[in-house]
Amino acid sequence: MKPERPVLTFESAMNLSRGESAELYRKHVNPPLAGLLKLGGADWRYTKAEGVYLYDDTGRACLDLMAGYGALNLGHNPREVLEAVHAAQVLPAVLLVGYHPLLGALGDVLAAILPGELSISIFGSGGAEAVENALKTARACTGRKKFLSCTGAYHGLSFGALSVGGSPRFRELLAPLLEQCELIPFDDLEALEHKLHGRDFAAFIVEPLQGEGGFVVPAKGYLKSAETLCRKYGTLLILDEIQAGFGRTGAMFAMEHEGVVPDIVTLSKSLGSGVVPISVSVTTESVWKKAFGARDKYDLIISTFSGNPAACAAALKTVEIMYRDGIPERALSLGDYARKKLEELKARHRLIRSIRGRGLMLGIEIDTSGLIGGMLEDHLSAIIISELLNKHDVLTSYCDLDPKVLRFEPPLVITTEQIDTVVDALDKVFSRGKAALMASFGLTAVRSIAGRRNQ
Ligand code: PLP
Repeated sequence: MKPERPVLTFESAMNLSRGESAELYRKHVNPPLAGLLKLGGADWRYTKAEGVYLYDDTGRACLDLMAGYGALNLGHNPREVLEAVHAAQVLPAVLLVGYHPLLGALGDVLAAILPGELSISIFGSGGAEAVENALKTARACTGRKKFLSCTGAYHGLSFGALSVGGSPRFRELLAPLLEQCELIPFDDLEALEHKLHGRDFAAFIVEPLQGEGGFVVPAKGYLKSAETLCRKYGTLLILDEIQAGFGRTGAMFAMEHEGVVPDIVTLSKSLGSGVVPISVSVTTESVWKKAFGARDKYDLIISTFSGNPAACAAALKTVEIMYRDGIPERALSLGDYARKKLEELKARHRLIRSIRGRGLMLGIEIDTSGLIGGMLEDHLSAIIISELLNKHDVLTSYCDLDPKVLRFEPPLVITTEQIDTVVDALDKVFSRGKAALMASFGLTAVRSIAGRRNQ
């Protein structure tokens, strides 16, 4: 049956105005988020993105300081990755029986660049899917049921990933989640050993540094000791490098900073440079064999789009560029540069409580003391974000589980001059001070409500 009204074509969709795009999003995608974007003046309609910049429909450029939460380490639309994807598009787009050459090749590359015996890849499309596959692998391998994870952790929003996530709000809203999942504080080895010594946890899943939890770096030695404890008690260690991986922290993988080798690592985001969604859980041959190495189990980890040629092409080219152009080293030195600049800002502005993170995964913790309750804390960050975008053309956001921490997480191809521009913008916004910024929220809200009444 044909639809009753004319439907938009691709070409007409590409030409929708800012207002039309926002309205269709509000009506058909996510009404409350549309409201928030409008309130914060972040409802820009983007037409192009390249490197560290996004361009709106008036040609205005803004510098991207969040890089898809770590999915755009090579910047927006890296030309060579797009070309590789295009070249791979002569292969079958989806293939579930038989081989295309890129899938095994990518598995081989991952085995070569990951430490230890990590050598078998379970592919997927999104980060949460990689986490699901890692959890399944741990259960199937150990025969144990329980999972251990950390407060403040973020592993995605599928049911399994939420079950090991540290957000009380998400967990409560969607309960009941997976049974037998327990939380311990991040960076607490005593709590870890206390739980593990019962020898009934299939896996301990942890981020090398917490991303959405507020860019929290654990004490030196924590991850290495966690690895030792997991081995001692027969629990698999799953390291979630979905946000921290691919150069972000100043090493290809954050685990390299401490020489940690997990039993399973989850990767996604920048693996495909954000051009094609791709994720993977990589484990050892012995874990994989125990988990899925039989005719009645091998198909527990296959999905329609896993390992499709376009995704593999993006990943192969991304890894090649990362090493060829020394992207992790670049993140290390630019991270040091940015951190020094941000520390100087902190010395001048009482609004900044701390600078957190590692490499170019940096967070600016806002001092929210004196504000009443979580709502206003969110608002102060939202106002700063709105000012940065609308007055200084810098796009950022806050950490999902700790809104008082602003992201300084640009594409790793950013330059020192561009870092200076961002720091200058931050300087100007912070110079306004807490009271003036909060007062401007009142005005924005009133204007937005008035605007809606006049519609
Ligand atoms: N794990 C970590 C550490 C993440 O930061 C994220 C997303 O931000 C995920 C998992 C989930 O990835 P996705 O949103 O692709 O499902």
